[in-house]
Amino acid sequence: MTECEICGVEIRGKARYIAIGSSKLQVCQKCAQYGSEVMGDKDTRAKTTPVGEQAQLLKAKRRLYEQMDLELEAELDIGEDYGRRVKEAREKAGLKQAELAKLLNEKQSLVRKIENEEIVPSKEVWGKLERILKAFL
Ligand SMILES: [Zn+2]
Repeated sequence: MTECEICGVEIRGKARYIAIGSSKLQVCQKCAQYGSEVMGDKDTRAKTTPVGEQAQLLKAKRRLYEQMDLELEAELDIGEDYGRRVKEAREKAGLKQAELAKLLNEKQSLVRKIENEEIVPSKEVWGKLERILKAFL
């Protein structure tokens, strides 16, 4: 006797197979609508990726991307409005762009572009900025 794994009735005729989450169920005609139908034997893997697994995959991917974002930020701790922060820090430190540039051993135009957020400072330049303007950033 073959029973439906959802409602428990005896399956008359051919059993249907559906996937719910990552499990595959042998069900009656009526219950086949509750999942995506898969072919074949109960022990073979579902051919379609069950909805539950797809959601898990998406979640896993999202976690991965969040992780990557975090690592990126951690690597270059600049954050938003870095231009304004650099400018304010420089002004608090009482430095002119040219003076800061000299301390950085960089061109004044670089400082100006960073403050205007025309360019994102390289890790090296940001490191120097942090050392020089540490108390003000
Ligand atoms: Zn059933």
